[in-house]
Amino acid sequence: MQCPVCNENIPEYTRTCPCCQKDVGFPNVRKANSSEEILALNEKVILRESEAISNGCISILEQFKEAVLKSSAVMCTALGKINELVSDDNYLYQNFYKAVGSEGRLPKDNKYDKIRGSVDSMFFPNYHEEIRFAVLSIDGTGLTGYGNCCMKLKDIAIEKRTTVFIENTLLFIQKNRIVPGDPLPLGCRASWPNRYLLAVAKLGDRITAETKESEFSGLLMPSRERDGDFIEVHIYGPVKGSAIESLSFDKSTKKYRREDLVLFKSVLNKAKNKGIITETINQ
Ligand SMILES: [Zn+2]
Repeated sequence: MQCPVCNENIPEYTRTCPCCQKDVGFPNVRKANSSEEILALNEKVILRESEAISNGCISILEQFKEAVLKSSAVMCTALGKINELVSDDNYLYQNFYKAVGSEGRLPKDNKYDKIRGSVDSMFFPNYHEEIRFAVLSIDGTGLTGYGNCCMKLKDIAIEKRTTVFIENTLLFIQKNRIVPGDPLPLGCRASWPNRYLLAVAKLGDRITAETKESEFSGLLMPSRERDGDFIEVHIYGPVKGSAIESLSFDKSTKKYRREDLVLFKSVLNKAKNKGIITETINQ
C-alpha cells in the first residue's frame, strides 16, 4: 500500500504514514480487507452456500448470517477488573503486553504466556502489543474460563478497529504446524462488518435443514473453555468502561465469598448508574 497523500510505502504494521502521518487505517483491518484475504474468504462462502442449496438449507444459512450480523465482542475477566472499569472513567482495560510492560503484572509460568508473544507476532507483526482479545458471541456471554464476568462491548466502540479470526490463534498455529516465517493461510480472517462471512465459511457445513435458530449461539461458541472452539475477536487499541454495553456474571464458575458479594453488589450499582445492562446467569 502507498500513502494516498505522499506516495510513501506504508509498512503493514503502522497506523499512520511514516512520512506525512496521514491516518492509513488500523493494520489488522487493512490486512483483513486486503484483496487476497477477501477473495479467499468469498471463495469459501460461495462453496458453503452452494452446499447449503444442494442440502436444502440455504434459508437456515441465511438466518444464521442474520444472527451473526448481530453478534457481539465479549471479553471475560475477574470482578476486580470490572470494578476498576466501572469505577473510574480514566481506567483502561489492559492487555497482557501493556500490563507486563508497565510492570503491572508478571507473565504466568504456563504454556500460554510462554508462547503468547511469538504466536501473536505471527498474526500482528510489529503491532501485537496493540491487540485486545475477545470472542464472538450471539448470546452476550463469553469464555468464562478467563473469568466469570462477561463484558459485551458496544459495536460503535469497536466496529472500525476490530477483526475476527476463524479460531483461537494459538490453537490454529499448533494444529496447522505453522512456524514463524511461514505464510498464514488466507480466508481465515474478516473485518467486523464481514464477521458473518467468516462464520459462514467456518460453520456453514454444520448447518442442516433441521438446525434451529436457538442452536446458532452454541454453534458459534460450543464451550466456554479458554481452549474451546470459537471465533476470536481482535480489537486494536484500548477498551474503556464506556465501551461496555452489558455485563453478565456467571455464578456457576465461581463461589462468591462474603467479601466478593459486597464487591459484586457495588459493581452492579455502579454499572446500573452508568446505564450498563447487568444480568446474573446460572445462579
Ligand atoms: Zn504520507
